[in-house]
Amino acid sequence: MKDSFNEFIGMGMTSERSRDNLIETLKQKGIKNNEVLKIMKKIPRHIFVDEAISDQAYDNTALPIGSNQTISQPLIVAKMTELLISKNPKRILEIGTGSGYQAVVLSQFAQKVFTIERIKTLHDEAKRIFKILNIHNIYSKYSDGNNGWPEKACFDAIIYTAAANTISTSISLQLCDNGVLLAPVCVGSKQILREYLKKDNKLIYVDHGEVNFVPLLNGKK
Ligand code: SAH
Repeated sequence: MKDSFNEFIGMGMTSERSRDNLIETLKQKGIKNNEVLKIMKKIPRHIFVDEAISDQAYDNTALPIGSNQTISQPLIVAKMTELLISKNPKRILEIGTGSGYQAVVLSQFAQKVFTIERIKTLHDEAKRIFKILNIHNIYSKYSDGNNGWPEKACFDAIIYTAAANTISTSISLQLCDNGVLLAPVCVGSKQILREYLKKDNKLIYVDHGEVNFVPLLNGKK
């Protein structure tokens, strides 16, 4: 675990107590993996959001990060992390860097995290935070995540943090055999958290309930 996280334990609403409350909530809502809980207690979520709303950083809610986007709700970050790391992935691709929070959580469990963001300002800001936190195993790219990162494939795990209509062939080709892909997918008017496993070049899936993400969009901005 990074020592550099310790210096960000702050006062007031970003204090240790507000973090403890969040971890308690995550436990009550079904998060069982102690390593995930431990890491999420350590990571300073308040530095991923604007200072004006940092007093809400340890609430179990999504928060705005500018450009009409959000940092995901802690519970969903914990749930997706728990699902992904149960497969012990070494190399993870994330589509939708956003604030960079999910990437930082994953970076504590994998050798390398590759993350792609289509909005330049968010990409730049996330990179700045990775540097502040002294994290060196996250590789970020400003691009349309629909294309993945073919030069770095294959990935043991792929995570979408924006809701997709379908999983494109080019993305599934970048998943290693026996790899896991987690994505909120649009099914009718709902979004479902779907876990795909790649076996002999075919994707089979299980569903993990309804979720609420911003949509996956095309192109760069
Ligand atoms: N993982 C993020 C959550 C971000 S919200 C976090 O921890 O904060 C989803 C993000 O996906 C947004 O920043 C949005 O701009 C990005 N996104 C949407 N479509 C995309 C695409 N095609 N390629 C890359 N990023 C995309």
